[in-house]
Amino acid sequence: MKFLKWIGVLLVVLAVVLLVRTQQFKPVLDEQASAVDLGRWDEQYLAQGLAKSLTFPTVSSGDPREFDLQPFFAFQEYLKQRFPKTFAQIPYEVINEATLLFRWQGQDTSRNPIILLSHQDVVPVIPGTEEEWTYPPYAGTVADGYIWGRGAIDDKAGVVGILEAVERHLAEGFVPPRTIYLAFGHDEEVGGNLGAVAIADLFKQRGETLDFLLDEGGVIAKDMVPGVEKRIALIGPGEKGYVSLKLSARGTGGHSSMPPMQTAAGRVGRAVHRLEQHPFPVDLDYTVEFMRFLGEDQPFFQRLLFANAWLFSPLLTTVLENNPATNAGIRTTTAVTMLQGSVRDNVLPIKASAVVNFRILPGDTVESVMAYVKEVVDDPAIKIAPYDGFGSNPSPVADTSSAGFQVLSDVVRQVSPETIVAPRLVMAATDARHFSEVAKNSYRFMGVEVSPRELAGIHGTDERVSVSSYTEAVKMYYALIARADEL
Ligand SMILES: [Zn+2]
Repeated sequence: MKFLKWIGVLLVVLAVVLLVRTQQFKPVLDEQASAVDLGRWDEQYLAQGLAKSLTFPTVSSGDPREFDLQPFFAFQEYLKQRFPKTFAQIPYEVINEATLLFRWQGQDTSRNPIILLSHQDVVPVIPGTEEEWTYPPYAGTVADGYIWGRGAIDDKAGVVGILEAVERHLAEGFVPPRTIYLAFGHDEEVGGNLGAVAIADLFKQRGETLDFLLDEGGVIAKDMVPGVEKRIALIGPGEKGYVSLKLSARGTGGHSSMPPMQTAAGRVGRAVHRLEQHPFPVDLDYTVEFMRFLGEDQPFFQRLLFANAWLFSPLLTTVLENNPATNAGIRTTTAVTMLQGSVRDNVLPIKASAVVNFRILPGDTVESVMAYVKEVVDDPAIKIAPYDGFGSNPSPVADTSSAGFQVLSDVVRQVSPETIVAPRLVMAATDARHFSEVAKNSYRFMGVEVSPRELAGIHGTDERVSVSSYTEAVKMYYALIARADEL
């Protein structure tokens, strides 16, 4: 009896601990955003301004011979007409022919500048899919409450949205409290070497450090998290790294009528099978922090589980890794993408290879990924080398208690009071990663609304942004600029 009594007491204590922790599982933010009057904005005027920018097919290419800069020059001519004050009053440099870097001198020159980034280039429309668009991809159509076209979200809403906010500030005689850079690269979609990398190098050369950086990457998510009705502003405090590794094996070749027990192709197959069987270790921290910011707006049971990850991590891991979207948030991911063996069905391969793409969670590095792969493959006959030489480590992860995050959160809720703010690692790569040595706090966020329908349009068919949410994004840029001294 006594024993049972003690069990009962322990269970009650456990329940209390779980509930108290659940109660405390909420964000560290001011309850209410400070009220501010952002003035009146003409939605149709803004919509037409973005729509027109989508008529310039500013497609970047990794191949210099195919990289046509004419659409960029035409796009910039348009920007000069649309934003005459900005181009006349703010000095700017043109870097590598088409990247623009504005330096908007502030009052207090003793403080480090801040920077707002966006990219001018877009990805191509996949040949053969043009007909599937509701409105042609480069027509710049405003219809049904949306602005339609390639680049509507990624990332001309950023370029044109920032410039709308700046132009209005200039018209109102505003002088920024500190210096603000505006940087619009032209090759983000193909790695950023001519744009973002060159700009970051300039800052290094000039010995200039930035206190705050804002780039694309996070959006206002609608209907993306099950059980949460409100919209969630996903502010990216960091992004995952990237590396592709080539696994290759050699064989003797010859006729396939008398094959060895294992060919080079089989050997590579074994290696990739082992990699898929041994996913990278799990780190729940970033997901738990994200859930903490959802606070009481998520179902109670979900909140209880995440608030007590110390107890429920095995269960959480099982649930999260079953969905590719949530799995990507808890570990370095492994994607076997390219396979190559013999050129004919009856010829033994002399060489076989696989390319595996890894998206690296902060905590891991390109080096640690290579070491892990070597250990898991555990086969000296498999050569492991970086594919095409490109790789980037995860970015540093900015602090959510920083002034930058707090002000961004405040600005989002001023413009859209019913929106939840939460830090969410960005799974894809952005230009921001190139600034890790020169910018102290980097965030990835643009205030446009993205539901599953809009998500499918980014790099896909029917890219679009709603007129009302684009207007909100512009207001957020405007409000953020006004508070540059707090960043
Ligand atoms: Zn982009």
